[in-house]
Amino acid sequence: MNKIIEQLYFAAPVAVQDVLVSAYGYKLYNERYGGNHNRYLSELLASQYFNAGRIRELVDSSFIKMFRHAVENVPYYRQLVRDGRIDLQAVKSVDDLCRIPILTKEQIRNDPEAFLASGFGSGQLIKIGTSGTTGKTLTIYIDKDSRRRAYAFFSRFKAWFGIDPSLPNVTFAGRVFVEPDRKTPPFWRRNRVSNNYLFSSYHLSPATLPSYVEALLKIQPHFIDSYPSSIYTIAKYMQDNGISGIFPKAIITSSETLLEHQRRTIEEVFRCPVADQYGCAEQVVFVSQCEKGTYHVHPEFGVVEFLREDGSEAEPGEQARLVCTGFTNDAMPLIRYEMGDVGVRSSEECACGRSFPSIKQIIGRMDDTLITGDGRRIGRLDPVFKGLKSVIEAQIVQEDYENIVLYIVPGRDFQMGHAQTVVSELRKRLGSSMKVRVELVDEIARTSSGKFRAVVSKIVRAS
Ligand SMILES: [Zn+2]
Repeated sequence: MNKIIEQLYFAAPVAVQDVLVSAYGYKLYNERYGGNHNRYLSELLASQYFNAGRIRELVDSSFIKMFRHAVENVPYYRQLVRDGRIDLQAVKSVDDLCRIPILTKEQIRNDPEAFLASGFGSGQLIKIGTSGTTGKTLTIYIDKDSRRRAYAFFSRFKAWFGIDPSLPNVTFAGRVFVEPDRKTPPFWRRNRVSNNYLFSSYHLSPATLPSYVEALLKIQPHFIDSYPSSIYTIAKYMQDNGISGIFPKAIITSSETLLEHQRRTIEEVFRCPVADQYGCAEQVVFVSQCEKGTYHVHPEFGVVEFLREDGSEAEPGEQARLVCTGFTNDAMPLIRYEMGDVGVRSSEECACGRSFPSIKQIIGRMDDTLITGDGRRIGRLDPVFKGLKSVIEAQIVQEDYENIVLYIVPGRDFQMGHAQTVVSELRKRLGSSMKVRVELVDEIARTSSGKFRAVVSKIVRAS
């Protein structure tokens, strides 16, 4: 949000904020569910029961179509052909993916336009800034039609769980739409367009939980969409206090690794299945659980390779790197994109009857969470890095309940003002009393296993 608009929004009464949230909701609704969305959804509802042979044909033809489009229209892939790093004649089916070099986030970050297909006007493109968990910004372009196609996969996923998207629903969101220092309810805003209540994930604390639960009891959401950590906090509070009476059809979780104890508690308290989903802003992969609980790759969306460190194919049951090729983003086709996440494939057939690839487990990155003085857990901090320019790397370290250090490895054009946006984004989530110190450093230390962590908390706490 623009700074001035943001100040006006926060200064407005809640009723006006509801109207503004609804207006924004209308824009998003149209971007996601307008145009060809329904046509794509009916195609997906038909293809989900194709037998293995037909799924294979569909994957092959989608891949070859995307591959040809990429080598003809995308500068990066054209260059690979010119350099002889891709042999056009050798790539005939999805089995030939291994003949194409793996693509890293770093390559896109260095030159996002090299991955943009020609023929898309700026009016057709949606630009998405994503920082992932590494704290570095990545620019992704998606064309409007492709975005609606991607949302058709979400719609199919909801249908698997009997969800009617028009009924009242609740989202625990990572966006900031409630004043950060607000101490009294409402900690939610209403988007009338989608019958959706946006609940703030950042205001959950022992002091505010009763009002959250009261609101949920009143709304009686048909479904809830949440980060695992947010809905778990609610479920745990209800369980500890013997509260029940909120019975949605399903709870959708995404964006963080869903831990087994979280799933158990959420399912017990809300007496409904947790439907976990895994995807990314780069729009190269869509994985979700089915109604039988199995994690599936949605094959019309793209292909997932499970690779060992040396690039060879991992066996079922083995922990492997996820390398994904998307079929749904014509504006920015990404082939063999290294997700930076770990997963385990499965060779078992699923009782749901779909011939979709199955995944035993998405291990993901176990992101750390921060904790505020009043006991709020703040996970999923990657949105605070959005818009951070000229930074090579950044890391948030929580020293204690009052002090955060933001370490920055500055890029060539870095100015101290850039760090202030991150500081204010952090304060929005952690409260304005949190002290945030910015330190410029030459490098950020890795863990003993060589991993970079964007968020580190030094507070020892019980889970
Ligand atoms: Zn299944």
